[in-house]
Amino acid sequence: MARTGKEYLEGIGDDGRVVWLGGERVDDVTTHPALRGTAETIAELFDLQHERAEECLVDDPELGLVNVSHIIPRSRDDLRRRRVGLELAARTHAGLLGRSPDYINVTLAGFAGRADIFAMNGNERGAANMVAYQRYVAEYDLATTHAIIHPTVDRRLSVTDQHGEFAVHKVGETADAIVVRGARVLATLAPFADELVVYPGQPVPKDCPQHALAFAVPMNTPGLVFLCRDSYGVDAPPFDRPFSSRFDEQDAIVFFDDVEVPKDRVFVDGDPEIYAKVMSTGWTANIMQHTTIRALAKLEFAYALATQMVEVVGDRNPGAAMLLGEIWTYAELTRSALEAAEAGAYEWGNGVWFPDERPFRALRPTLPGWFARVRELFEALGSHNLLTTPTEGELDTPALRPLIDRYLRGADVDARERARIYRAAWDFVGSALASRNFLYERYYLASPVRTYPLAHIAAQKERDWSEVVADVLERGLAAPDTKWMTRKETSDG
Ligand SMILES: Cc1cc2nc3c(=O)[nH]c(=O)nc-3n(C[C@H](O)[C@H](O)[C@H](O)COP(=O)(O)OP(=O)(O)OC[C@H]3O[C@@H](n4cnc5c(N)ncnc54)[C@H](O)[C@@H]3O)c2cc1C
Repeated sequence: MARTGKEYLEGIGDDGRVVWLGGERVDDVTTHPALRGTAETIAELFDLQHERAEECLVDDPELGLVNVSHIIPRSRDDLRRRRVGLELAARTHAGLLGRSPDYINVTLAGFAGRADIFAMNGNERGAANMVAYQRYVAEYDLATTHAIIHPTVDRRLSVTDQHGEFAVHKVGETADAIVVRGARVLATLAPFADELVVYPGQPVPKDCPQHALAFAVPMNTPGLVFLCRDSYGVDAPPFDRPFSSRFDEQDAIVFFDDVEVPKDRVFVDGDPEIYAKVMSTGWTANIMQHTTIRALAKLEFAYALATQMVEVVGDRNPGAAMLLGEIWTYAELTRSALEAAEAGAYEWGNGVWFPDERPFRALRPTLPGWFARVRELFEALGSHNLLTTPTEGELDTPALRPLIDRYLRGADVDARERARIYRAAWDFVGSALASRNFLYERYYLASPVRTYPLAHIAAQKERDWSEVVADVLERGLAAPDTKWMTRKETSDG
């Protein structure tokens, strides 16, 4: 059943989890000054689903009202229904919470829907565990984080050596549990999550079955240690720091110091083939519906905010309009790709529907460049105005206010409004949190060094491109080959 924000906060408070931040062990993530702002924001997302139940909740025949992110899509309509709720939530945070709890919900719904893949090679128990776990997360409306990447220690080493002792691997087994050791990076949202899910990232070599693991554990499981990066959350009024005060979702390194994972929470146990396959049979198409909705919310917000930056200082320069048009273009191309992917949705197997992956495959390596460009465009449009921004406290200081009102007003707006817009713009592109957010956009779906080649490999599987050349050079208008227009199920994981 869908939880309220209050119920969510009660669940993650002082539950014994081992979270380190700034050299200290955090007693209670809901009261820590660097974390409580974001904890409250996530609680608001839980409340939102009740306030806007029509968009955010669906009636699950077994569980009652659950968030749309738990839908296992069985039709194009299911995907469209899911989008309505995801879009509403993403707009409340301008797409700045990349790993709002609905992210992993969507992933788990995809995995449970494709339980047939987990069941390969006699892994029926792992598949059943995955199906049961997805139901469990939906039933208790849990917030989950995930860690799928092995730590980088020495890029000179082969993948196998690199995996050796550092990456998460199985070191033993009891009657009821497997014992896991190693590290994974980075678990975004970790301090604010109820559970950690470990699932495949890149395939592991066949001779490293001990590294081919997928499982889930509660955050307070003994042996689990979370080391947060520096906090970029600030304890400041929302006027001064609208995003840093509320949207630092954190990223944590996860250490597994001989963690016992109950066997009924293990989804893959030492099978590199399943490990590789679960990420190449719909994962991209499924999760990228979520991430594209979020990216769209962020790009639309960027366009709207940049437009206001220009308006408050009355900038009629055609150069500014050109830059604004460029930002809008990125938003619109993202929206078009999302529409195209949903329109082209089809059954991927086991009765599960995911979008057409091709538009997403194109967006995946391209979006990071667009976001980097958006940042550049904000700097170009904002100039020094990004820094001539009194704080709320300064605006309320009688000795300063007349000077601020006189010299720092905008074209048709007062000094307060001008400061509000430009402070938001700086927090969006220039603050420490903003820098982290751009790093996130660059890497959260792997780097373009990996994803452009994957796009090329998939394109080659889908169509004989030599025919395209032949149509022009040999056949002319006589017989253009249209066979390629038929979509094939290919995925790149
Ligand atoms: C803010 C943030 C949050 C994250 N959150 C999570 C999370 O919640 N869960 C999780 O499992 N993982 C998370 N990650 C990890 C993320 O999944 C990995 O960083 C990502 O998969 C990239 O892997 P990699 O670092 O090995 O990079 P690779 O894909 O291996 O690429 C890295 C290397 O490729 C080269 N390279 C990259 N781009 C280019 C380019 N354009 N041109 C030329 N060379 C290039 C560089 O040498 C670079 O070092 C997060 C990462 C970040 C930054």
